[in-house]
Amino acid sequence: MSQLLFDLPALPAVPMSDGSAHYPVGRIFCVGRNYVDHAKEMGVEVDREAPFYFTKTPWAAQPNESVLAYPPGTENFHYEMELGLAIGAPVFRASKDQARAAIHSYCCALDMTRRDLQLAERAKQRPWDLGKDVEGSAVFAPLTPAQSMGDIGAQRIHLALNGNLKQDARLSDMVWNVDEIVSHLSHFYHLRPGDLILTGTPAGVGPVVPGDKITGGIEGLDPIALTISEAE
Ligand code: MN
Repeated sequence: MSQLLFDLPALPAVPMSDGSAHYPVGRIFCVGRNYVDHAKEMGVEVDREAPFYFTKTPWAAQPNESVLAYPPGTENFHYEMELGLAIGAPVFRASKDQARAAIHSYCCALDMTRRDLQLAERAKQRPWDLGKDVEGSAVFAPLTPAQSMGDIGAQRIHLALNGNLKQDARLSDMVWNVDEIVSHLSHFYHLRPGDLILTGTPAGVGPVVPGDKITGGIEGLDPIALTISEAE
């Protein structure tokens, strides 16, 4: 191959919680409507036949405890607190047991969303890219190895806006558990190290304005934070 015309920005990476290494971000998959109460507040039903997904480009990744400028093109930018998981081994057409074995680590994550655009796209049966693949919209706190986290079950997941609790649920409230999600997705993609999956948000999503500070946590994982600043 002849010389590349220009260099792309380096891929983002998420630190491990013990500071030992960074996990490079390849693909970002996100599960939609994975908590019954959140589907209800969005005015839709959970699909019990199979999970569904949207994606974000890797450069949508945003560091933990950073400042994000209010994005262009929206007047209703929302927080969504989620459990993130990172794939640690190639996995294709996996059983649930094989899927679980391929999970490298977990983290707190935010799926920041242009809700007005997402809902307009949804109403017109168009893709959600402008609503969801927002620059800086995939926030990842440091990753904790799956063995340290243990089984995903009744751990609390919560988010506060300027210190006021907005989202408060249990990971066991997920419609599709992590093994089912990884197994299902592996029937459509050759999942591999670098793939991160956001597993959906509980009820209580809402808007932010410049100056707001989001803080969130999941039992057993490092906390997450994001500050919103004025639009550029
Ligand atoms: Mn989400």
